[in-house]
Amino acid sequence: MQRYFVKPEQMSNHTVVIEGDDVAHITRVMRMRKGDQIICSNGQGRDVLAEIDSVQGQVVLANILEELPASRELPVHVTIAQSLPKGEKMDWIVQKSTELGARCIIPFISARTVVQWDTSKISKRLHRWQRIAKEAAEQAQRSILPIIETPVDWSQLIAKSREMNLVMLAYEGEGTTPLNQVLPACQPGGNILLVIGPEGGFEPKEVERAMASGMKAVSLGRRILRTETAGLAAASGKDLPRQIGPRHQPATQHHVLH
Ligand code: SAM
Repeated sequence: MQRYFVKPEQMSNHTVVIEGDDVAHITRVMRMRKGDQIICSNGQGRDVLAEIDSVQGQVVLANILEELPASRELPVHVTIAQSLPKGEKMDWIVQKSTELGARCIIPFISARTVVQWDTSKISKRLHRWQRIAKEAAEQAQRSILPIIETPVDWSQLIAKSREMNLVMLAYEGEGTTPLNQVLPACQPGGNILLVIGPEGGFEPKEVERAMASGMKAVSLGRRILRTETAGLAAASGKDLPRQIGPRHQPATQHHVLH
């Protein structure tokens, strides 16, 4: 069944108002009419089964039939901070991080970030990534629509990390702890941040500063991963709690990612 994200204010107790590109998808691509059923999500964890009531120009009105369980979200809130990669890799990172359950993606600039972040293109790139996240979240049947934040610099990212319960800096150098030995510290409902470096990696002084701020340097295994692989390897780590319940007990022995 087709799933559409709407803004929270477009979903009341009994009705959903659908606007924008989704109206054309409903009426022309899917050729849906009055009485047809769709799933709508407010992107913040509320999913409903709704029945199309009317199409008025560029607006579809649907009546809510029932509330649906938001059963596909991770019990921990995962944010991925990604040092801006070259080319179109960020499209791929946004899509795959969304499929893997990330709630937020923070692009950032670090010392060895190659990409020159052109502020004139900022809103266009963010709009593109947010559209990719919406399409990936609809395909993954998620209840949360990930937010792609405006890029920040290293200091701003460190400041943001203080709002988190657990911050892991992916580092392929010395002095790291395997990811699966750090992850069990995540509690259901907790906020975790995974920080991924650019193609050229982090500078040692960046790592020192990050650890001084409370980040934990974690290893993703013995192999050196591409920047576009690293965040996904971390987010899909089998040790990330996948659901609340008996499985989500503090780790005893886990298969390592090596
Ligand atoms: N220093 C790397 C090299 O020698 O090619 C370049 C950085 S790597 C391509 C890009 C980013 O992925 C790193 O900054 C780090 O965040 C992450 N990464 C890659 N492999 C990793 C590993 N085995 N453990 C932890 N992080 C890793």
